[in-house]
Amino acid sequence: MKRKHFLTYLAGFTVMSTLSGFKRFTDDLPEQPDYMPVLFVGHGSPMNAIEDNEFSERWQQMAKEIPVPKAVLIISAHWLTRGTHITAMTQPKTIHDFGGFPRELFEVEYPAPGNPDLAKEAAALITSTEVGLDHDWGLDHGAWSVVRRMYPNANIPMLQLSIDYHQPPQYHYDLAKQLMALRKKGVLILGSGNMVHNLRMIQVPGNDFSKMNDEYGFDWAVEMNTIFKDKIMNRDHKALIEYEKLNKAAKLAIPTPDHYYPLLYSLALQRKGEETTFFNDKAVAGSLTMTSVKIS
Ligand code: ZN
Repeated sequence: MKRKHFLTYLAGFTVMSTLSGFKRFTDDLPEQPDYMPVLFVGHGSPMNAIEDNEFSERWQQMAKEIPVPKAVLIISAHWLTRGTHITAMTQPKTIHDFGGFPRELFEVEYPAPGNPDLAKEAAALITSTEVGLDHDWGLDHGAWSVVRRMYPNANIPMLQLSIDYHQPPQYHYDLAKQLMALRKKGVLILGSGNMVHNLRMIQVPGNDFSKMNDEYGFDWAVEMNTIFKDKIMNRDHKALIEYEKLNKAAKLAIPTPDHYYPLLYSLALQRKGEETTFFNDKAVAGSLTMTSVKIS
């Protein structure tokens, strides 16, 4: 090798070794024999965070059925941004991003730690766009209402990845795929939204909101729930990405895609041969479904 080329080579090597030299959280994590399961959770009413009901109890149960994760990366319907960001603070705050609920819900704190090193590593895995390291957000109720039930000791690092709301569905699906390596390191990736989510049309039997979680779905909501499950089971992700073409009722089920996009993040991480199982498969309040998916 000529000296000039050797020096160029050496310079390149220095840059590379500097880049790979930053401390990676997952360097300390042994590769797991299996890939961590992936979840999509229908979160529904924020009250599920503090109420013992069939949904929140199933979340608790789910945490016992899967390996204890080294960290949880959550894609919540409630963090919509321009550009993609990941929380990178050591101590994410609990965000009470709702109104009109009892004081008890506003008093909930979920003091799980963050993990800045994992945030950097996850950001580095994504090459399709530059992922910003965020120090302002924290955990919104789409995240903490679920994980406080799953991991009540708040001792597992929690991170959130935002949804770039200016991007089409395919963007989210493609971006999520790049996070696959985290599954092998024992990181639980959890999409939190609702497949059918039309707040304007919400209706509870007898206008009694204590019946919020009773099984009650408009015909179109039940129909869309069946279509979604069918496409998920048959791994027809293309149809789910192009959801607007699915059915006339798709517009009612997904008037805005905020609660739907987290599903695409979870599905993108399904590997060949992996199965999907459903839980909390129920329509409530007419125009919401709690239907959730485990991929393993
Ligand atoms: Zn929500």
